[in-house]
Amino acid sequence: MPELPEVAGYRKYFEKYALGRKIGSAQVKAPRIIRGITAGQLEGELTGRTFISTLQHGKYLFAQTDGAGWLVEHFGMTGGLRYFEDHDEPPKFDRFLIVFETGGALSYVNQRMFGWIGLTADPAGLIEGKGLGPSALDPGFDYGEFKRIFSGKTGEIKAALLNQKLVAGIGNLYADEILFQARLHPQAKIIGLGEKELQSVYRIMREVLRTAIETNSDIERLPPKYFLPHRKKGGGCPACLSVLQTVKAAGRTSYFCPRCQQENSPSR
Ligand SMILES: [Zn+2]
Repeated sequence: MPELPEVAGYRKYFEKYALGRKIGSAQVKAPRIIRGITAGQLEGELTGRTFISTLQHGKYLFAQTDGAGWLVEHFGMTGGLRYFEDHDEPPKFDRFLIVFETGGALSYVNQRMFGWIGLTADPAGLIEGKGLGPSALDPGFDYGEFKRIFSGKTGEIKAALLNQKLVAGIGNLYADEILFQARLHPQAKIIGLGEKELQSVYRIMREVLRTAIETNSDIERLPPKYFLPHRKKGGGCPACLSVLQTVKAAGRTSYFCPRCQQENSPSR
């Protein structure tokens, strides 16, 4: 599932292949992924425009055009982008296609179609309207704001990290990595966390997401002490070699080390 680091990769990819290029045609292949506008309107608005800049907020990618506002792309569970040349076959699960005037096309692919595409004049307004929290790597999102958002919450830490209305961009995988590195059980109650623990969650959240972007979201290239390469049935903890366990937290299967991430750790 694309989380903030994957979408950062899509943003780079979008910029590489689409920025500064005039749109010859836009083709909606799966009308059910289009929101807030009809497929025909979207195609008409985009044709003849040029993409001039991009923006990311959490799991959202925005691409500004010279006159039709911003294209909005959310990737859901299985979305991504694929560029291909005119002589190539369109990729599998092609749902929305931008064909460039000078040749080549950028496909929004999405097998399960949980994501969506739209057009907005105002990305900040859309983000606010959806009630999204700050993007997890936003330069202005400092510890003070993180603390203001998280302290006093009654729920579990994993659920809070996944809640896009508190902080935008983290999904199931990176939440497990963050909690492992912070040595917190996925079901730990926020209210039971001390200042130092909250600080370490914030610091680790930023570091994990940055590292994931640097490694191009390639789990195998993460540093050796990272959790994600081991996050599977029967996997061993990279710190103590204990066999990892799973628990449902926020309705999601969460992996954790029963030794390093104890529910009632002595520090609480
Ligand atoms: Zn361990």
